Amino acid sequence: MTLRWQPTRLALSLMVLSCVALAHGQNHDHDHAHDHAHEGESLEQGKHVHGEVTVNVAIEGNSLAVELNAPALHVVGFERAARSADEQRIVNEANTWLKSGAGIVGVPTTALCRLQSVNYTPPASTAKHPDYRASYLYRCDQPAALAWVELWALRRLKGVEKVEFTVLSGSMQKQLEFGSNPGRIALR
Ligand SMILES: [Zn+2]
Repeated sequence: MTLRWQPTRLALSLMVLSCVALAHGQNHDHDHAHDHAHEGESLEQGKHVHGEVTVNVAIEGNSLAVELNAPALHVVGFERAARSADEQRIVNEANTWLKSGAGIVGVPTTALCRLQSVNYTPPASTAKHPDYRASYLYRCDQPAALAWVELWALRRLKGVEKVEFTVLSGSMQKQLEFGSNPGRIALR
């Protein structure tokens, strides 16, 4: 059995996922009624909907890619620069966590997945509606065992009401919506 890393195909999948997420997002009412002070401001730096996080999963050969995209509100609890030592500590802990890749997703142990790389850059604290975006690449020696995924990251996020979930596996593509606690999500 050949265990070959296929970064090109995987990168392609992620691009497809991003396009899908983008097209999907356009159908949404970007309601920021929670904060009237933000009305009329450009949302270029963060076009998100409070209450919603996005998780994309792509399986290609032995590779499992997971993308997480969450408004800062749900990661640290505010969308501005930290104003106290406590808030700074919360920001630092979020960065440490997302960079570590620990507790992001759970999959069957029989799939023998190991984290290969993390792509995470903290959002600028000056951004309006900053997004925390992180992606994780795993290598799974038994990808056929990838029957489900659990979104462990949600346990650390605050105030999430809806999860936009996309899974791309071979020719199969599924887009699902969940509440704050999707439980175990079937990947087939
Ligand atoms: Zn926001």
